[in-house]
Amino acid sequence: MINGATVVVGVVGSPIRHSLSPLIHNAWIAASGLDAVYVPFPPPVDRFTAFVEGCRGGAIRGLNVTLPFKEAALACADRASVAAKSAQAANLLIFEADGTIIADNTDGAGLLGAFAAQAPGFDPRAGPVVILGAGGAARGAAAAFAAAGCPEVRIVNRTFEKALALAADLGGPVHALNPIAGMKVFGDAMAVINATSVGLDGAGALDITLADTPPTAVIMDMVYKPLVTPFLAQALALDRPTVDGLEMLIRQAVPSFEAFFGQPPPTEVDARAIALKALGMSA
Ligand code: NAP
Repeated sequence: MINGATVVVGVVGSPIRHSLSPLIHNAWIAASGLDAVYVPFPPPVDRFTAFVEGCRGGAIRGLNVTLPFKEAALACADRASVAAKSAQAANLLIFEADGTIIADNTDGAGLLGAFAAQAPGFDPRAGPVVILGAGGAARGAAAAFAAAGCPEVRIVNRTFEKALALAADLGGPVHALNPIAGMKVFGDAMAVINATSVGLDGAGALDITLADTPPTAVIMDMVYKPLVTPFLAQALALDRPTVDGLEMLIRQAVPSFEAFFGQPPPTEVDARAIALKALGMSA
């Protein structure tokens, strides 16, 4: 029962109605016996900063942040983790009692966690990884693979200038590649990740052939609606191992829950089954 002592956390985005995060976190909260609630917040896009400023001081303990506010969330924070600074975006804000706002980005951890769960033999240090896209999700993924010791992270994007800018920002093993220029991109890839929004809600399909990838290359799509995108369907038809975006969503929620409540989510809750049911699919 919600009362004066109930801890409020949530997710802020626009639109937010279809977010699966409230379902996952509230199931974890209930199973943990916490006096807390996880609420979806859809502030007007031009009121996001005012909304976050209003949370200063701990009326709300923490917020996950999703599109289109991840970059603005980082700008609101007083302190930020290395992951958030590298991604230049935050998907987690923690409101300290003294008024401090701390930003973090758990998308990279979620991505690597999804690989560990669904492609357990995959080693990010073993060879090149190709990331399709150069937006916030691609940036976070590239930073996570670089931090995990990947020797070469190749960024391929429709707008090549954005891939160049991302590579220049992150440096180290992160490079922009333009397949149109005849570059060999996929032949020795250990993994290929769709970090574009293509395929979301059945809209379009990437004009990429995976036939050149090695048979052991892991193919991952961050899009999880539908769970099997045309990109993953192509990978499955080629018998490549796959990782789906739903697993990433669940894995990025784990460190958020830990930051909110100082304890891990309960293991007895099958968050994937809950999310699949909400997507109209069975586990
Ligand atoms: P974003 O910043 O808006 O970036 C979108 C990217 O998609 C850009 O690189 C854009 O290329 C590319 N793109 C869009 N339409 C395209 C098209 N028709 N053909 C080729 N490329 C196209 O978005 P984001 O925040 O990076 O998110 C990307 C996707 O990842 C979204 O679907 C998001 O839901 C998903 N995501 C999933 C998780 C998860 O937990 N599973 C977490 C984070 C994000 P240009 O630069 O050329 O415009």
